[in-house]
Amino acid sequence: ELALNRVSEIHKLNAFITLTQNEAQIQCGQSQERYKTQKPLSELDGVPIAIKDNFCTENIKTTCASKMLENFTPTYNATVYQRLLDAGAVLVGKTNLDQFAMGSGTIDSIFGPTKNVWGYSEGDNFRISGGSSGGSAVAVATGACYAALGSDTGGSTRNPASYCGVVGLKPTYGLVSRSGLIPLVNSMDVPGILARTVDDTVSVLNVLAGFDPKDSTSLTKPYKKIRLPPAGKMSIKGLKVGIPIEYNCEQLSEEVCDVWNEIAILLKNEGAIVKQVSMPNTEYSIVCYSILNQCEVASNMARYDGIEYGFRADEHYSTEKLYATTRRLGFNDVVKNRILTGNYFLLSRNYTKYFEQALKVRRLILNDFDNVWDDVTILLTPTTLTDAPLYRDFVSKTNRDQCAAQDFCTQPANMAGVPAVSIPIKLSKNGLPLGLQLIGKNLSEPLLLAVAKYIE
Ligand code: GLN
Repeated sequence: ELALNRVSEIHKLNAFITLTQNEAQIQCGQSQERYKTQKPLSELDGVPIAIKDNFCTENIKTTCASKMLENFTPTYNATVYQRLLDAGAVLVGKTNLDQFAMGSGTIDSIFGPTKNVWGYSEGDNFRISGGSSGGSAVAVATGACYAALGSDTGGSTRNPASYCGVVGLKPTYGLVSRSGLIPLVNSMDVPGILARTVDDTVSVLNVLAGFDPKDSTSLTKPYKKIRLPPAGKMSIKGLKVGIPIEYNCEQLSEEVCDVWNEIAILLKNEGAIVKQVSMPNTEYSIVCYSILNQCEVASNMARYDGIEYGFRADEHYSTEKLYATTRRLGFNDVVKNRILTGNYFLLSRNYTKYFEQALKVRRLILNDFDNVWDDVTILLTPTTLTDAPLYRDFVSKTNRDQCAAQDFCTQPANMAGVPAVSIPIKLSKNGLPLGLQLIGKNLSEPLLLAVAKYIE
């Protein structure tokens, strides 16, 4: 009840696309019954959660914040939602995002932008929530739910977590099933978790993680539930922490740089071995990502033709015209732009020059990570380059052109598939949250989250 009240109190932040009070009431009732007669199903039994609106939910609309899927109701559940249900969790609603998760601001939704609760103001003088999982981040930050699911292809869980002052985890690629997550870039997409503390994040991860036969990239290795030691009982003595110098990029604000430094010194003072490392191919990540992203988008988006499901234009002249008009009206400019450029990169005369080349660069970026693990166990980096930008500034033309820069520090982890977590550190001069990121090697979540908890 408290969560549902909170959901309606924060209506003006536009964090939710669909509210699921009915489902919540039923699920909650069942949970209460269980508590009377048997052991709770899990730590999440009866716990309110929210889910980004690009995860399929049976009989509940799943829009991807797009006109194309505005009235789409899936006939099955994403594995992650099913696992939450099986664990007794209660769904409070589906959260806002950038259309098809393309963006870093939650500004490109047909339902309007999600406003950050930090630095809130009426009109357009508000701070962006970050994205594309901005609705989930705001839902968690405001206490409308205990935790929320996001998706993370280039930073979409960690970026809004950092701007909204919550924890955002991008698990190892393949650890959490993508079945039922509407794809953006299949080779990089992972379901992400947003919660207020690292312990809460772990509780959710323990329910979600593990092999799923419905996802061909799901890891088969059995998942061992993570149990973090109590905060006072941890030590980081001897832990090798790397500071990758290339993450100190041109647009990084002085303030974020200072916080980064401060925490590095703190870790050193607590006995960690902190050293600078080099990951020379980091600077190519963004451009390499944009090519691979657009190629996979071009392929993924082909399914939206107005025939099988989703929006259909009122066009009867020919099938080709029906496809074309449906796609012209059903997608925003960002989506159309990516489809067009993706198809350009995939033309037979361009394929080797762009797509194959980008795959090679991706390999170099991955090698950077493989090499760095010879030296250190974990990396400490910024999450975002600044605190949450003002909406007005973020949507200005120049910013639009360089919007990808916001993913500079988050994106390489998706290229490599490694786990990364953003944790809130302190407030900026503007009184807004600033987060830092920890990156670990594949399947190092137990260590990664333990260190995150230590810093938290
Ligand atoms: N900003 C990136 C993009 O628009 C990443 C989005 C994401 O992680 N879903 O592609």
